[in-house]
Amino acid sequence: MTYLPFTKPFVDEDTIAGVAEVLRSGWLATGPNVADFERKFSAYVGGRIVKSFTSATGALEVALELCGIRPGDEVITPAMSFTATPNVIMRVGAKPVFVDVELDTRNIDLDAVEKAITPRTRAIMPVHFAGLAVDCDRLYAIAEKHGLRVIEDAAHAIGTAWRGKRIGSFGDLVSFSFHPNKNMTTIEGGALCLSDPVEAKKLDLLRFHGLSKDEEGNQDVMMAGGKYNLSDVAARVGIGQLAHLEQFNEKRKALVQRYLGEWAVEDCTLPVDDEGHSWHMFAPLIPFERFGLTRREFIAKMHEAQIGVGIHYPALHLFSLYRKLGYGVGDFPNAERIGRETVTLPLFPLMEEIDVARVCQAAARILKS
Ligand SMILES: *Cc1c(COP(=O)(O)O)cnc(C)c1O
Repeated sequence: MTYLPFTKPFVDEDTIAGVAEVLRSGWLATGPNVADFERKFSAYVGGRIVKSFTSATGALEVALELCGIRPGDEVITPAMSFTATPNVIMRVGAKPVFVDVELDTRNIDLDAVEKAITPRTRAIMPVHFAGLAVDCDRLYAIAEKHGLRVIEDAAHAIGTAWRGKRIGSFGDLVSFSFHPNKNMTTIEGGALCLSDPVEAKKLDLLRFHGLSKDEEGNQDVMMAGGKYNLSDVAARVGIGQLAHLEQFNEKRKALVQRYLGEWAVEDCTLPVDDEGHSWHMFAPLIPFERFGLTRREFIAKMHEAQIGVGIHYPALHLFSLYRKLGYGVGDFPNAERIGRETVTLPLFPLMEEIDVARVCQAAARILKS
């Protein structure tokens, strides 16, 4: 039986040939392919301004800089995400203020957000977890009421929609990731979507050494910008991926419908379905102690059955870095429970529905034995 990983990118032959062409062209770093990729991704998010980056982590960090967030400021963010989300807040010297997530959606609890706002709060950094949109109406109502910036971590949400509107096509600053595990890839890469052309100009400086040119071509350095520009090689991969994105996401949806129909183990919390879900991940919560085995044992047995299982993610506030801020066990019960019970099952466009049946059968056999 072939090994079924929990995720695997698909790059078609046309894209591979296109990359070879870029490599032979002599122009490898930022050039025409980056411009083309940004144009095409902008069309995908309803024509908003798109700036590509070498990673979403870089895009998020620069977004915080753009908002002028600095030491002494607080940014509200969920206790359940990948560690890049709070890390970038630390990197600009601000304080991540964690709040719990909802158990059913695994998204940031907006009641908790309102309670966490202080005079030092500058921004909210929510995550559309696993590809399910946060309640954007309520999120932006809170932000507006309190004069806060919103930096959406949409790493999981390429193709996600909120009430029929695609994530990235509206809102404040929206960051996507094109890491190979995400719904589409540029190998490494990310993008920020925004509306304000003045802020877009500033992003260009923050993204590339602070360098600007006047009409005569004279260079000037306006600020100590960083180095986050995407390469043309990476952008060409992204162009090839964009051509398949709708099809990739349709396949993810179909596979999840099969998972929801096929999963036969009781007492597990399945992810909630939604019309606008982009299904970056399918991750049930399994109360392992009830089944008399640990998650580690479950994952090892799935591995023996040639099935890869991921963990996304341990609760953020229990990592050493964040315990040093004073967080500890019991602070965010939902994030902690997700952190203990979550398993990410195989889900990627190259999979077949028969693979879903195999995963569900193996999990049922292991948990019920
Ligand atoms: C992957 C991911 C990131 C970081 O993306 P990179 O492109 O790898 O920097 C940030 N936040 C979340 C929630 C992610 O899953």
